[in-house]
Amino acid sequence: MTNAGAPLQFRIIKMSDRSECECCGRKGLKRTVHLENLTSGDDVFFGVDCASTALKQRYQGKRFKISREAIKSMAARAKTDRVIVEAA
Ligand SMILES: [Zn+2]
Repeated sequence: MTNAGAPLQFRIIKMSDRSECECCGRKGLKRTVHLENLTSGDDVFFGVDCASTALKQRYQGKRFKISREAIKSMAARAKTDRVIVEAA
């Protein structure tokens, strides 16, 4: 089953100390964002730069860009809150 047309959704899990970005393949990063692809259930790790360009946040029906700082604060908040973002 596919949900064509619907944006891909990810749940932010936390910041990870994994050093490879699965978005662009860059290695040697200090930190990555640990995300769960809610469609496939796969865990993915994106560098903060990639996460801020590849992801959008939905708020009151509109989609907004996410800054690098916002990604980090969402990751901190994700311990207690369920934080969902969408593929840009
Ligand atoms: Zn990347």
